[in-house]
Amino acid sequence: MADSTESESRKLLVRLREAMAGDEAGQARLDKITHLIADSMGTEVCSVYLFRDDETLELCATEGLNTESVHQTRMRMGEGLVGRVAKYGKVVNTPDAPGAKGFRYMPETGEERFSSFLGVPVQRLGEKLGVLVVQSREERMFSADEVYGLEVVAMVIAEMTELGAFVGEGAALSPLHQQSVLLRGTSAQEGSAEGHVWLHEPRVVITNPIADDPHREMERLIEAVDELRVGVDKMLEVSLDGDKEQMQVLEAYRMFANSKGWMRRMEEDISRGLSAEAAVEKEQSQARARMSQVQDSYLRERLSDLDDLSNRLLRILTGQGATSSADLPVDPILIARNIGPGDLLEYGRSLRGVVLEEGSVGSHAAIVARALAIPLVVNAKRITTEALNGDHIMVDGEQGVVHLRPEDMVTTAFRDKMAMQAKAQERYSSIRDRPAVTKDGKTVNLMMNAGLMADLPSLESSGAEGVGLFRTELQFLVRNKMPKRTELAVLYKRVLDAGHGKRVVFRTLDIGSDKVLPYMKPTDEPNPALGWRAIRVGLDKPGVMRMQLQALMRAADGRPLTIMFPFVAQFEEYRAARAEVEKTLERERRLGHPLPEVLDVGAMLETPSLAFAPQKFFEEVGFLSIGGNDLKQFFFAADRENERVRKRYDTLNVSFLSLIERIVERCESTNTPLSFCGEDAGRPIEAVCLAAIGIRTLSMRPASIGPVKSLLLRVDLDALRKIIADARHRGEQSVRPAVMDYLRDL
Ligand code: PEP
Ligand code: MG
Repeated sequence: MADSTESESRKLLVRLREAMAGDEAGQARLDKITHLIADSMGTEVCSVYLFRDDETLELCATEGLNTESVHQTRMRMGEGLVGRVAKYGKVVNTPDAPGAKGFRYMPETGEERFSSFLGVPVQRLGEKLGVLVVQSREERMFSADEVYGLEVVAMVIAEMTELGAFVGEGAALSPLHQQSVLLRGTSAQEGSAEGHVWLHEPRVVITNPIADDPHREMERLIEAVDELRVGVDKMLEVSLDGDKEQMQVLEAYRMFANSKGWMRRMEEDISRGLSAEAAVEKEQSQARARMSQVQDSYLRERLSDLDDLSNRLLRILTGQGATSSADLPVDPILIARNIGPGDLLEYGRSLRGVVLEEGSVGSHAAIVARALAIPLVVNAKRITTEALNGDHIMVDGEQGVVHLRPEDMVTTAFRDKMAMQAKAQERYSSIRDRPAVTKDGKTVNLMMNAGLMADLPSLESSGAEGVGLFRTELQFLVRNKMPKRTELAVLYKRVLDAGHGKRVVFRTLDIGSDKVLPYMKPTDEPNPALGWRAIRVGLDKPGVMRMQLQALMRAADGRPLTIMFPFVAQFEEYRAARAEVEKTLERERRLGHPLPEVLDVGAMLETPSLAFAPQKFFEEVGFLSIGGNDLKQFFFAADRENERVRKRYDTLNVSFLSLIERIVERCESTNTPLSFCGEDAGRPIEAVCLAAIGIRTLSMRPASIGPVKSLLLRVDLDALRKIIADARHRGEQSVRPAVMDYLRDL
């Protein structure tokens, strides 16, 4: 194909399709394909290397190399020229292979006779499948046209591999998407779940990569692109009065949708014999390969826009992906690259679990999954390429492990574990209505954290004595525009109604840092966790805070009301916030609205500085709640969202416990009610230690109340307090080992 023409390229594809239509087993098909390609391109060699596992490529068929080396010759990713093509997803084209950088001689193949080498990646939507190579004796560079032609063929091979065309008798190939896979991610919400894969954005399956009539395909592509453009224009119109950032993204979409280069390449692919959808996917695969190499975040985002656009186009062309949640399988486990809190809420409690390829423990999706008590694993690399809709899947939210299409043995072990957890749950429900009184007669109040309407039924079922932390920002995060005062008042009223007089601590809006409202202009800060967030935003721009305070007072409608301000770092901030409450009260009074019967106003202690605030602050504040998640991150200077450093410092580290003890002492001396509402309150060992050093109110996820209570009922806090003191005197870094010894003896 040295002077290849488009029609020759098309002829080859048609021959390939005929080869596929035959009833040979997988290996015979693959052999036939290599023969056809070598013949059509006029090269002595054509070989197909496919991945055996993530790291190893295997020669699976060849025309021209020694046939004994088939299924024998293997190389690692990055090794030799073939390994290089696979690793970087880039073409290698050289007239002098033995002299090329990275060449590795494989004597069993007999390839020393061949001088020129052209290798192209076989890849499908970011999934690396293998490498297609042609070689010839003659020392020459392959022309751009030949490279292009081979890429088109590689695309077809990728589609065929995906469709399982090379699997079958006589083939040493294992089928894609059928083996069991274990993926390790990060645990973002505990719990175990078994179910079936539900892809948030299902993979489009292309059954017709080769087309007969390029004119028809061209028309199909143009029609689809027109539909896409109209769609993007519509999105732009809708958001015309909207947010500037969003407009910019849509403008970028429009630019791509009208991009001449993108269109031209796809038209060229079609003229070489690909169907319209195969042409779109070829461009998409190449964009994904580029995406994995690009460091620049702006460029990466643009490439990801292009990826998104290609997905839309594929859906238009194939009519696939228009599934609705009505088609959810039994026990659905949601798989997505990433997902916003709004989308996740739409699925709601119908999901058994969620696995995200990206995402982080502190992401909004994680907050929602936690609120919904759905096991969540984030950072599970390759999950979206590996999983197919309906696959059997098991999610271990404790360990952050995902078993996709598990073997029977794994399934059995996993079910045993789930059964044990269910038994434990039964045990917990039997103590639901008992107060948490320790062996030495001390009572600990167990409350729950909430933030969504979906949490309210847990108030009954968990046995919580109230809501110790209601994260009001969740209601703001799940919307795409600022909620109105009346809307909020209705929501807060429902919360108070569900509480039937139990205490509900409403925390005012805690946004900023990782919690970014889609409808508020984002601030570009070098350290958002230390930046303009929570009460700092509330005081600088008091409009929203005032609206929220009013909504709370109206919801209370004369009943007792508890308000807590987040992230207070110094006395003055509390005073200023408190003054806003007074102003709102005054306004409500003037308007003739009923005022709360009792109004309790407190603060979260989330920065070390507040532990050292003047005595007067402790006297004035209505109550304090320790936000251990933030307090710990600032105390140890370790980002709570950074997996590398997050686990490095133990909550039971003596320095951290000393800080908590100091807060306890200061609160005791001023009669200031104190609670702890960070995640550690819901971890049984941490919880009993916090109780031992004097914290008598713990607020946690509803699912943690049972396990925490169960342990509290068995411990003697005085004894535990002594164990903690002794470990500290011995100079230990963490009291955990000593505490564990004590608990084991119980
Ligand atoms: C905390 O910081 O411990 C806390 C409860 O608040 P959030 O996790 O919402 O920041
Ligand atoms: Mg916090």
